[in-house]
Amino acid sequence: MININYNLEMENLIKDFKGDKKLLLHCCCGPCSTAVITRLKNFFNVTVYYYNPCIHPQEEFEKRRDEQIKFINELNKTEKRHIKVIVPTYNTKTYFDAVSKVENYETLPEGKERCYACYEERLKQTAIFAKENGYEFFGTTLSVSPYKHSNWLNEIGLRLEKEIGVKFLVADFKKKDGYKLSQELSKKYNLYRQNYCGCVYSLKNSNCKNE
Ligand code: SF4
Repeated sequence: MININYNLEMENLIKDFKGDKKLLLHCCCGPCSTAVITRLKNFFNVTVYYYNPCIHPQEEFEKRRDEQIKFINELNKTEKRHIKVIVPTYNTKTYFDAVSKVENYETLPEGKERCYACYEERLKQTAIFAKENGYEFFGTTLSVSPYKHSNWLNEIGLRLEKEIGVKFLVADFKKKDGYKLSQELSKKYNLYRQNYCGCVYSLKNSNCKNE
């Protein structure tokens, strides 16, 4: 398998961007978004897309959503930014429709094929919304986590770029100590950090890891 440095690819791509290009950024939670938005905020006009039908139960979805909004409100206030947060209606059917096509999806640990389907569903809906609403790029925070496969995320994103017709921001946000930065910024902004990835299976699975 070819080892592509997606972080370097992103840096080369965006180095001359001045902050006016519209990016729809899929965000899985406030803590992960801190490090990613810190890296991108001067290169893009960022809109947060909190699309996470995988999260169980609904109260947890709402808790993470509220932390996401809290972080963006604080950033907008202290840095005089105008980052928006879009929250599509919580509907777990799209998640279960996607992952139930995977064999043994209920018993697989985090990081296996169920997660590929979960990444794909979240990125697909982000790409469709970006295309329909005039964004130049779509991307995701997911690669900041050491428990998420950056090669899968970039493979899916680049395929959707071709299929849907909106550019995907290749990335590997865990590089350059991205995960450590997300931990530090979560403390700074006093954000709740969950101890399981999100779905009912990761909640049940003792092997699940913190996002
Ligand atoms: S463990 Fe995380 S990435 Fe995998 S299916 Fe569950 S919510 Fe999605």
